[in-house]
Amino acid sequence: MQITKGVHRLGSGLVNSYLVEEAGLVTIVDAGMPGNWSDLLAELASIGRTLDDVRAVVLTHGHSDHIGYAERARTERGLPVSVHELDAALARGEVKNPARGGGPVGIAVLRFFWYGLTHGGLKSVHVGEVSTFGDGVVLDVPGAPRVIHLPGHTPGSAALHVEARDVLLIGDALSTVAVTNGSTGPMIAPYTADPAAAIAALGRLDGIEAGWVLPGHGQPWTGGVAEAVRRIRAAGPDGMGRPAA
Ligand SMILES: [Zn+2]
Ligand SMILES: [Zn+2]
Repeated sequence: MQITKGVHRLGSGLVNSYLVEEAGLVTIVDAGMPGNWSDLLAELASIGRTLDDVRAVVLTHGHSDHIGYAERARTERGLPVSVHELDAALARGEVKNPARGGGPVGIAVLRFFWYGLTHGGLKSVHVGEVSTFGDGVVLDVPGAPRVIHLPGHTPGSAALHVEARDVLLIGDALSTVAVTNGSTGPMIAPYTADPAAAIAALGRLDGIEAGWVLPGHGQPWTGGVAEAVRRIRAAGPDGMGRPAA
């Protein structure tokens, strides 16, 4: 579905990946779960594009529900896959997932696990080779996103700011749904390695404006970056898995 001009989302909002289009060329931001490959083909077709128009896969972090079809894109299509340097080992499957517990759990977690079960998400496909980026760089891919390092959810979590599209692709540095219990609103995502660091890192978004904040899980946030950060800070020391008041 189209989010805004030149930006599309795969999936219904539970596990998101995005397409950023510029001059007919496409960057894939995050790669969902392996079973989302068919959604990728369908979404490309819906905008009149094919895999031939895709130039790169960029990952907001190395978690298994974000690297899903990246290895397939790399090996079958020769597409470069990149991730922040501090998450490269995680994406390659060389280190253990640093994430901790998910906070309060409700019935909604079953939906997430069912989604994983039916989209190949229980057996992650690690990325054989990734190129890496650091904070502040502008990536030489369609859309020219600028990297904002937001460590905490994972050490190498990063947001991608596509200023020309008024979009901030924020990965799991901020969620708008808790996959564990279904609560909604800006929050620190469940399964965050270091919630305090994740909240502190949001200070790095000072001065960043984006009409569309696009999370890895949940619906777009259109209330402004500063307001999202304010709500999370107001929610207490972990802000994890529950809505920020
Ligand atoms: Zn994650
Ligand atoms: Zn995630």
